[in-house]
Amino acid sequence: MIIDAHAHCDVRFGWVHTPDVLLRVMEEGGIDQACITGLADVPGDDPDAYDRFVGALRAHPDKLHGYLRINPWYGEEAKALFRRAVAEDGVRGMKLHPTTIILPPNAPAVIEFVRLAGELGAPVLIHSGDEPNALPLQIAKCAEACPDTNIIMGHMGGVFFFEDALRAAEKHPNLYLDPSGNPRPDIVRKAVDAVGAERVVFGTDMPAMHPNVEKKKVELARLTPPQERLVYAGNIARLMRLPGVPA
Ligand SMILES: [Zn+2]
Repeated sequence: MIIDAHAHCDVRFGWVHTPDVLLRVMEEGGIDQACITGLADVPGDDPDAYDRFVGALRAHPDKLHGYLRINPWYGEEAKALFRRAVAEDGVRGMKLHPTTIILPPNAPAVIEFVRLAGELGAPVLIHSGDEPNALPLQIAKCAEACPDTNIIMGHMGGVFFFEDALRAAEKHPNLYLDPSGNPRPDIVRKAVDAVGAERVVFGTDMPAMHPNVEKKKVELARLTPPQERLVYAGNIARLMRLPGVPA
C-alpha cells in the first residue's frame, strides 16, 4: 500500500492536472491513494477553486483525500470555509504555501490557522524550501507555537536547507518530514535517522515530480519492512485519519 502524502490536482497556471490525469500517473507509479491540494489559495482570485477541489475528492473518495489550500489574509471568512470543508466536505487537512500567501509560517496570522487545524484534528502541510518565507526554521517556530497541531514540512527545506529541516524536526515532536521534490538521493535515509520512520511521510509532489523518482529515494534508504510501511502509508493514514489502512 502506497499513499502519496503530497500531490496536486487542479487546472491552473498552465498545469492541466485533472483527477483523471492524476489517477493515470498514480497507476503508472503504483500509488494506491493520494492526498491532494489544489493550486489556488482559497478564498482568493479563483471563485471556482473550492468547488473544483471538493468535487475531485467527492468523485474519488477511495483514492483521493484533501488538504484545503487556505489563504489566511481572508481571516474569519477563511476560517469559516475551513471549518465547513472539514465538517461537510470531507477535507482532512490544511495546506499553507508561504510563497503564494506571502506570509512566513511563524506570522501570527498563520499561527491562528495552524492552531485551528489542530483543534479540528487536521494536519497542516506547509511548503518549505529556500524562499524567504518558507524556511525550515520559520516552520520550527510555528511548530513550537502550535504544539497540538501536526505539521508536515513539504520538501524538507530543499537542497540547501535540509539540515535545518532535520534539526527542526528533531526538536519538535509535532513536525513530520516530507522529502518530496527534495533532490538529495539520501534524504529519506537522513530523515529516518534523525527522527525515526514514525515521522517521515512519502510524497511525490505530482505533477512536478514523478512517483518513480520519489520511490527510488525510499529504495535507496534501505528501510526495514516495518519502517517502509510507516513511510509509505501508515504515518499519513494516521495523520489524515484515513479509514481502512493498516498501520
Ligand atoms: Zn507541492
